[in-house]
Amino acid sequence: MNEGLILRALAFAAHKHRDQRRKDADASPYINHPIALADILANEAGVTDPAVLCAAILHDTIEDTETTLEELEDAFGPEIATIVAEVTDDKTLPKDQRKQLQVEHAAHASPRAKLVKLADKIANLRDIAATPPADWSTERKREYFDWARQVVDRTRDASPGLGQLFDQVHRLRP
Ligand code: NDP
Ligand code: ZN
Repeated sequence: MNEGLILRALAFAAHKHRDQRRKDADASPYINHPIALADILANEAGVTDPAVLCAAILHDTIEDTETTLEELEDAFGPEIATIVAEVTDDKTLPKDQRKQLQVEHAAHASPRAKLVKLADKIANLRDIAATPPADWSTERKREYFDWARQVVDRTRDASPGLGQLFDQVHRLRP
């Protein structure tokens, strides 16, 4: 555990996401989501690897803010930046293709990137179960749960414990 590095990642992500909100009805602060991933990894799965915890905190910065890979490399080093790049979708592609590519690429991700992916899917299913996007139909929630399972079935080898946490929340499929 490297508290200094982790808190620096938290300050960096909080600044990058400062004007963004989640899609739940209350429009929660965006940073709650990266914090949830780190909380799951550290406190539910017992992960102590600071690179994984930092990458979890930073996981949506390239995809959803103006942050570049080079910026992360400069601030946090190539190890953490590479994990974040591995969990970043190419937003120039249409959404359906992005989702399909996540499934196809998941099995080939590094073990650390798989941990971040697992925590991301757990956090998002918990959010959809408890505080879903206001305009999502039951069908759309089901499609998300089914797609998340496809990604998790290709990453769960990295952590049986996280796989079990995913199965627990997947039982809440509407
Ligand atoms: P989106 O990608 O539009 O939204 C899901 C993403 O939003 C999550 O992965 C998460 O990403 C982020 N997010 C922000 N707030 C929340 C929250 N409160 N709860 C959960 N996630 C949140 O959805 P999809 O395109 O993935 O849609 C799901 C499925 O539905 C797909 O299979 C798609 O094909 C289908 N679909 C169905 C429609 C319909 O009307 N039936 C319409 C459009 C799509 P992150 O972790 O990166 O922040
Ligand atoms: Zn996420």
